[in-house]
Amino acid sequence: MSVRLSVREALSVMSVSVPVSGERPRIASVDELLQSETLAALVARHGRVPVRDALRQRLDALRADWGSAPLSAFEPATLAHDIGLALDEAARPSLRPVVNLTGTVLHTNLGRALLPEEAIEAMARVARAACNLEFDIDGGERGERDAHVQSQVCQLTGAEAALVVNNNAAAVLLVLNTLATRRSVIVSRGELVEIGGQFRVPDIMSRAGARLHEVGTTNRTHLRDYAEAIDARTALLMKVHPSNYEIRGFTASVPMEGVAQLARERGLVSFADLGSGTLVDLRSWHLPHEPTVRETLAAGVDLVSFSGDKLLGGPQCGIVAGRADLIAKLRRNPLKRALRCDKLTLAALGEVLRLYGDPERLVARLPTLRLLARPREAIAQAATALAGALSERLGEQATVQVVACDSSIGSGALPVAGLPSMGVRIEARGSRRERDRQAGRLLAALRGLPLPVIGRIEDGAVLLDCRCLEDPAPVLQSLAALRWLEKAT
Ligand SMILES: *Cc1c(COP(=O)(O)O)cnc(C)c1O
Repeated sequence: MSVRLSVREALSVMSVSVPVSGERPRIASVDELLQSETLAALVARHGRVPVRDALRQRLDALRADWGSAPLSAFEPATLAHDIGLALDEAARPSLRPVVNLTGTVLHTNLGRALLPEEAIEAMARVARAACNLEFDIDGGERGERDAHVQSQVCQLTGAEAALVVNNNAAAVLLVLNTLATRRSVIVSRGELVEIGGQFRVPDIMSRAGARLHEVGTTNRTHLRDYAEAIDARTALLMKVHPSNYEIRGFTASVPMEGVAQLARERGLVSFADLGSGTLVDLRSWHLPHEPTVRETLAAGVDLVSFSGDKLLGGPQCGIVAGRADLIAKLRRNPLKRALRCDKLTLAALGEVLRLYGDPERLVARLPTLRLLARPREAIAQAATALAGALSERLGEQATVQVVACDSSIGSGALPVAGLPSMGVRIEARGSRRERDRQAGRLLAALRGLPLPVIGRIEDGAVLLDCRCLEDPAPVLQSLAALRWLEKAT
């Protein structure tokens, strides 16, 4: 019996034994199907109710399309196959791994820092069991959740005290709301930045209930600008790391020391939002220098805030470190309760901070630093493997080359300094317009792979920066499913 015929076609072919014209072939009921051997595996995998619902949906759709649905579509094996695909699709988590070949190591949209195994294990341990999150085991009393990481932060930064909240934006909000509500905060116009994802210093300031007092000009701000702006309403002198851009040319900004000293002389508090805030001197790994938290505190700044998942390489969180009396005030603010982070974050952060205690092995153990410091030869090796698989897959359709390119750190760290890297460039044939069009299609096809690959377009071609491709094998495997130019024609 031909199984490809539609019911209508089948009815016109004598060899097919179906009921007389107009009558429907007998189809097993949903209950019968659910009991059948054929669907047993699906029921075991997804549960009876989801399988039942998917069956009903599929049968309803087939009945609605009675005339053209092939007879075979009603067979249990076919039904099982079809609803199996739909159930797998529905069961696929929305949040899932992708391969970051964008060249931006700390990519906010791709989840920033990759955690070291030690941190992942620590999260799993406290996720499975009750833990002493806010419990002092020795005294049997209530404890403080930040206590689990405070001494580590202090040791690594020279701070007197520290606290942890959900992210650095929350840290800035907490500082401003605690220390400057209905008072003013002096900030240089050159530092009124917008960091991607709706973090704008003036907006956070007004949400925190503080008044922004801008001083200086976009390109030049002097210490006297801060000094002349101080009045009875002033609460804070704030420095913001300009993170994602750089002003060049005729510029002047006041160093941390100057602002910190002025604040001290006038009985005010100085606060630096470092953004990325690294704990180590990146020059040790031949990376460009970023101000460290320790340096900033040593310059006399009272409070410093920084992200946990940028250069620090840990879980998403925001850390405030500095003077103990000020940290105590922040802790008493009810907002701290709303901005606090959970046991998973604290467990991961504790492990990441522990790695910093052993600087000689840090680059080997902390993925963020490992990727930033990755030798070009290793990147080239990954690029060569990827290029080989791609040119095999794409054959004559495109030019596939291993090329030199520039990665960036991302998340606002060192915006101007590119890190020399290697990647794969894939360019379609044809006119410039055709190549642009095909580059967009290829980028989408790569995103559509079982293991989505995220690249970028540069100069009419797809560029896959291999800095973050440490294990090409799963990607190469996933490439078997790549469909690109076939669909275009
Ligand atoms: C990234 C950044 C923030 C925001 O930090 P999140 O951890 O993303 O909330 C704030 N300020 C500066 C200067 C930054 O670079």
